[in-house]
Amino acid sequence: MGVNTKGRKMESKKHEVPALPYEYEALEPYIDEETMRVHHDKHHQAYADKFNAALEQRPELFERPVSELLANLDAVPEDIRKMVINHGGGYYNHNLFWEIMSPTGGGEPTGELAEAIKRDFGSFEEFKKKFTETALTHFGSGWAWLVKGTDGKLKVYSLPNQDTPVSIGDKPVLLVDVWEHAYYLKYQNRRAEFVEQFWNVINWDQAGKNYQKA
Ligand code: MN
Repeated sequence: MGVNTKGRKMESKKHEVPALPYEYEALEPYIDEETMRVHHDKHHQAYADKFNAALEQRPELFERPVSELLANLDAVPEDIRKMVINHGGGYYNHNLFWEIMSPTGGGEPTGELAEAIKRDFGSFEEFKKKFTETALTHFGSGWAWLVKGTDGKLKVYSLPNQDTPVSIGDKPVLLVDVWEHAYYLKYQNRRAEFVEQFWNVINWDQAGKNYQKA
């Protein structure tokens, strides 16, 4: 943390939780308002706070984008590396998650992403089946991911906890949170129902942008 000319601590470099790009209740009935409030305001905020607390020990790292830190974990000092993986990962993954959902979401991708899905999975239905199965069979907390690999091909897999594809060289295109906090208030133990409903809120325009820039 730097100190400005008036001797006050500069807060501007801290990583902040971005406001949702829609209202808390906007994803109803698929994702309920209370879940969105707790997930965004409490869980995401906690990841941001702990990530910032870790970086306080190495303030020079505030200068670097979170995606860059996660993509170069070897360059992160060992004493804070695990905190960057867990809390920096949690901060980063949730930033992506809010953006990949929309009250006007659902349907199917278009354009280049649609072509790539067809090329690499055979059809949108095959992709949907694989992504859903991956989300449902992931044991414990984590995320299911659609990513673009360094070879340009799309892949689906899950990662535990807040581990993120950028740390293994892949670029996130689509993701779904399968931590219980993402669905327990509305769906209790019924992860399958939550994942099924998630398809109704996917922002394919954003996924398409993620694919293009990846
Ligand atoms: Mn979460």
